[in-house]
Amino acid sequence: MQIPLMDLKAQYNTIKAEVLDAIQNVCENAQFALGPAVEAFELDFAKYCEAKHCIALNTGTSALHLALRALDIEPGDEVITVPMTFIATAWSISYVGAKPVFVDIDPVTRTLNPLKLEKAITQRTKAIMPVHLYGQPAEMDAILAIAERHGIPVIEDAAQAQGARYKGKRTGSIGTAAGFSFYPSKNLGAFGEGGALTTNDDKIAERVRSLRDHAQSSRYHHVEVGYNYRMDGVQGAVLGVKLKHLDDWNAARRRHFDAYRKGLAGSEKLTLPIEPDYAESACHLFSVETDDRDILCDGLTKSGIGVSSHYPIPVHLQPAYSHLGRKAGSFPVSERLANRCLSLPMFPEMSAEQIRFVCDSISRVDQGAREGVAG
Ligand SMILES: *Cc1c(COP(=O)(O)O)cnc(C)c1O
Repeated sequence: MQIPLMDLKAQYNTIKAEVLDAIQNVCENAQFALGPAVEAFELDFAKYCEAKHCIALNTGTSALHLALRALDIEPGDEVITVPMTFIATAWSISYVGAKPVFVDIDPVTRTLNPLKLEKAITQRTKAIMPVHLYGQPAEMDAILAIAERHGIPVIEDAAQAQGARYKGKRTGSIGTAAGFSFYPSKNLGAFGEGGALTTNDDKIAERVRSLRDHAQSSRYHHVEVGYNYRMDGVQGAVLGVKLKHLDDWNAARRRHFDAYRKGLAGSEKLTLPIEPDYAESACHLFSVETDDRDILCDGLTKSGIGVSSHYPIPVHLQPAYSHLGRKAGSFPVSERLANRCLSLPMFPEMSAEQIRFVCDSISRVDQGAREGVAG
């Protein structure tokens, strides 16, 4: 049985007629950059996130970048984030000339450890950017309490957490602002690139709206250095159609998450992800941990199962950030997860049979390894 890590084609097939119709509409109206489909999506997504504003953008990286620009963060400033994330979190900090300052993750939630946060705050700290990794919301109350004490805004990197909830609140409505990605592989994925910023703050919303479209006060009058970070009309139309299915897709992911946890409960070698009481995860990825990651990866690949590591190298150990001088051993929890994590296939259209096949394949690899050692 071939089981990919994710199957975008299976999803396309379930919404084909609807989505092609919406794309055709954009083509016939010839509104290709921003336009009514994007505006409609912004209203729908703000409502979905229970946030006051949504500004649609070209990527999630741009969303995080503009959040920092809108807060006037600049060279000399520091922004706190985690080393265990996709690199784009750190890029956004570098784009405004600020310095990424890392705080290690909690080993269970795999998100920013609030107990380690306060020590990292300095006079120069201008924002805190927790990441809802794998769709699992960070411990926002504890993070916000510390941030408020120091008067520092919190920007959620919600790129992997469309539709997740923290103590009942939707991600994207909890911090000062949030960045979402609609890269095709995310829970809500465009047919190309896409992103959005959500916020309850009117000033931030207005500034981001201006910055994404060349910072024009009126046509060809530019009040500051801006960007072309606009969303395409086609992506707005696709996302508008797909948003209506997101809750069902996330519910399917949750069923797979639970089925994996049941199916793999007997595997002594694996540490399984959990969903803490405070959260409803978006179940973006099902990432297990094991000391024998390479053996498991090879074994599953040979069985036709798509796997990947998110992410094999933490940000502070990337050559791009060697100038920060944070050596191996600086953030042991992140480094341990990076060395041990393996994401199993996870997409809404998976069948119970496919989940069972993955679980059975894992126990076969386990057994093979044990017999190999014994022999
Ligand atoms: C995908 C992702 C981003 C970047 O989003 P793009 O749309 O690819 O620019 C940022 N942070 C995290 C955690 C992500 O997973």
